[in-house]
Amino acid sequence: MIDPFGRHISYLRVSVTDRCDFRCVYCMAEHMTFLPKADLLTLEELERLCLAFIAKGVQRLRITGGEPLVRKNVMQLIERLGARIGSGLNELTLTTNGSQLERFARPLFAAGVRRINVSLDTLNEKTFRTITRWGDLDRVLAGIDAAQEAGLKVKINMVALKDLNRGEIPAMLEWAHGRGMDLTLIETMPLGEVDADRVEQYQPLSLVRAELARRYTLDESDYRTGGPARYVRVRETGGRLGFITPLTHNFCESCNRVRVTCTGTLYMCLGQEDAADLRAPLRASAGDAELDAAIDAAIARKPRGHDFVIDRRHGGPALARTMSLTGG
Ligand code: SAM
Ligand code: SF4
Repeated sequence: MIDPFGRHISYLRVSVTDRCDFRCVYCMAEHMTFLPKADLLTLEELERLCLAFIAKGVQRLRITGGEPLVRKNVMQLIERLGARIGSGLNELTLTTNGSQLERFARPLFAAGVRRINVSLDTLNEKTFRTITRWGDLDRVLAGIDAAQEAGLKVKINMVALKDLNRGEIPAMLEWAHGRGMDLTLIETMPLGEVDADRVEQYQPLSLVRAELARRYTLDESDYRTGGPARYVRVRETGGRLGFITPLTHNFCESCNRVRVTCTGTLYMCLGQEDAADLRAPLRASAGDAELDAAIDAAIARKPRGHDFVIDRRHGGPALARTMSLTGG
């Protein structure tokens, strides 16, 4: 799959549910209305969709959500996709909040998953409660232990928030690197209506980076994943530190990815409204001709780039959909 700007689309992120057992302040309102279950693709449909993308050249798949591990029987899907590793698929990964990892770490490894991203914004129990509203830090930490014991390589994703966790970044860095885990810092993106004020939460990573550079030696790294993260190597810890700065840095020129939601909506760009419905062609017939045509038509209109703007007066979202729907 090659888009109009010559970019090879080889990476698909699949959100398998919009539901979650946490209510992170930057991601969801506390009283979220979730999609009716009937709107969701079945696990079999999600598999068919993924296989169609693999047949078209997708080599890396990331399972996400909502919280992917709260979707009933999600391991069935992960096992079936894992069976494709080596025949078309190079890598199957997962992004999770870690709450269910104690239970799922070994089955994930057995299914062929080797790397996971765990989202963790703080090591302070009280702050963890404030940010996730419903989460239990000890369970997440036990989940990370279980993942590493099972042989999974863990990367920590931390959303940098102005008031809540900015001061903790050095401690998180030393903790993650001390355990052999990369750390990636993420700027909040203006997606979806949440209760809190985005402008209050927004923490530019350029400032964080400047602060860290006073304390550590940050060696430029050309390590790239095709995604928005830019990496440095922290000389004192030996670990890798990533920065995802969608609002202050343009990463679109090397974009290799598209995203599909749990209802089969394909988003060609995280920061644009344009989308393609793949559920109707998926359900139209048992064969893949209509689905293939719908995917081709969508890739042919992948936009050049995103255009996030926080409405500074109202602090409202630039896009109505939340990250839990598109899967981050
Ligand atoms: N529930 C899983 C988790 O938290 O890892 C997977 C889905 S979550 C939507 C994926 C990532 O998106 C998480 O790292 C989360 O911190 C991040 N995220 C959610 N809302 C965001 C926002 N408005 N801006 C920036 N990152 C966001
Ligand atoms: Fe759930 Fe992940 Fe959103 Fe937090 S960021 S509410 S864990 S989907």
